[in-house]
Amino acid sequence: MIKYKLVCKNCDIKFDSWFASSNEYEKLKIKNFLSCHYCNSKKIEKTLMAPKLINSSYLKNSKEKDGRFKKVRKKIKEYQKFIKDNFDYVGDNFAFEARSIHYNEKKKKKGIYGTASNKEIKELKEEGVNAELIPWVEDKSN
Ligand SMILES: [Zn+2]
Repeated sequence: MIKYKLVCKNCDIKFDSWFASSNEYEKLKIKNFLSCHYCNSKKIEKTLMAPKLINSSYLKNSKEKDGRFKKVRKKIKEYQKFIKDNFDYVGDNFAFEARSIHYNEKKKKKGIYGTASNKEIKELKEEGVNAELIPWVEDKSN
């Protein structure tokens, strides 16, 4: 797809129009299928502005999204580092360990982290155990 800025020679209004190719524009022009969106005049010309390919704008968009994703990922990794440095990893035993800390406060003062199912987190919350779900990215998937 190619976007052209067209100009109406009758009312001097400029507008954008999409074409499958530059050839399609020429064909439509010769057949007088191009008309002004405002005054219906057939005196339509391409302006000198370079045609814009739709693909390049899509590409730019996805790069921006990628950049945002990388920023979020960086934040998560910083957070993960903080947790790894300050909390004990308990793996799948998270729900069990969280309960033992909660019900036996003298046992551990250090926080823990690990994996738990949504159901376990819900149950812990119902029991008044302080547990939070945090986003986590694996180190190996870079
Ligand atoms: Zn016009």
